[in-house]
Amino acid sequence: MKSSAILATLVLFAASAVAQSHPYPNGDVRGIYTRLLAQIEKIAIFDHHAHPGFPDDTDVDAMASPPGSAPLRERDTNPELVAAAKALFQYPYNDLSPEHAKWLVNKKAELKKQQGNAYFSNLLDKLNIEQGVANRAMMADYLDRKRFVWVFFADSFLWPFDNQKERARNADQQVYMPLQEKMLHRWMDQEHVSRLPASFDEYLKFVSAVLEDNQKNKGAIAMKFEVAYFRPLKFSDPSKEEAEAIYKRYGAGGVPEEKEYRTFQDYIFRYLVLEGGRLHLPVHIHTAVGVGDYFNISESNVMRLENILRDPRYAGTTFVLIHGGYPLEREAIWLAAVKNVYLDSSLMEVVMYPAAFKDSLRQWLETFPDKITFGTDSFPYNEALGAEESYWLGVETGRQGLAGALADMVALGEISEAKALEMAHAYLHDTAVSLYPGKVH
Ligand SMILES: [Zn+2]
Repeated sequence: MKSSAILATLVLFAASAVAQSHPYPNGDVRGIYTRLLAQIEKIAIFDHHAHPGFPDDTDVDAMASPPGSAPLRERDTNPELVAAAKALFQYPYNDLSPEHAKWLVNKKAELKKQQGNAYFSNLLDKLNIEQGVANRAMMADYLDRKRFVWVFFADSFLWPFDNQKERARNADQQVYMPLQEKMLHRWMDQEHVSRLPASFDEYLKFVSAVLEDNQKNKGAIAMKFEVAYFRPLKFSDPSKEEAEAIYKRYGAGGVPEEKEYRTFQDYIFRYLVLEGGRLHLPVHIHTAVGVGDYFNISESNVMRLENILRDPRYAGTTFVLIHGGYPLEREAIWLAAVKNVYLDSSLMEVVMYPAAFKDSLRQWLETFPDKITFGTDSFPYNEALGAEESYWLGVETGRQGLAGALADMVALGEISEAKALEMAHAYLHDTAVSLYPGKVH
């Protein structure tokens, strides 16, 4: 025993003597990249964040994007969409001119008719995604429950009062607020609640009933907030009495002042976070830039969540920072130092090209490689950039960026190739899956 322990120590010393990092790459980085990419393509992915659905399905999100300015890669002029169409549908043309694009629309319609509920599962097969999150207002019949797990939206509980002042803030809110009201009413219908409960305690009970119902009877694995689209991400810490007084004042009617509404929301948000811990229902939060004309980037800065994430009262809640705080992902990774905080890279690898994504991901891998997860943020943006193409874009850039980041790290003497593959498995599958024991694979 003793000699083997000494031997192990010697081996460890020998290994650490070899593994010394340096600022310039050694060896054939391209060769390492190619080797790693071939291995990475074989890893079955768990997609931690996406909105699968057809373009005419209003349930893909609990909000709608008003016409905003899309970044270069998300425009329907992106020439990579031709490559996506070729890879996924054997598209015969080299451009997406209106008459050629028609071929693609028809092809998708034909496949949808042929394959029915297997359409999106077949898409996952093509991309080697084993299972994926469907972050949707409600689940769709056409998504196979074996392949897609539901993450529902919890924002609407924050807007139970008369929202006319909220709506009047700008044109984005005019679109968003009615949709939040609609969502809240759907939850009320679901729980057979015909009007807002008279007491605040009953309201909280109703909120909890929705969470439990969604989890136990509808297969939800997490709740999601896209609250940054509707208000700042900084949450104060009001008492229950304060929130209750506001509920009493406006539950039956009347328009709250913005300050009162925020105070009420701060309490409800924290209540939901606590419930997420009690029910083992992880809390997903949109942390990134957003679409729309009035999305406030500085007020939705991911660091504004730090008081919540580092609050010991919520140590039992698992947080997933969706979109990794982009474009502040280099700061956001340090929030993953908190034991129960994880980062998801979805959207980043659709907005960023592989070269830029590789560098961001490398910094993450060099900091908390065990706290980062992969997601596509697939979404039916438009006819050319459908959920199908955005799945493809996310997966392709995700794998390339990952192989590139890991190849750099190997060539810079930071990790071995074996360790690189271990990190790849963790990022693409294992870490996310570990957050939902027994529910996903
Ligand atoms: Zn999303």
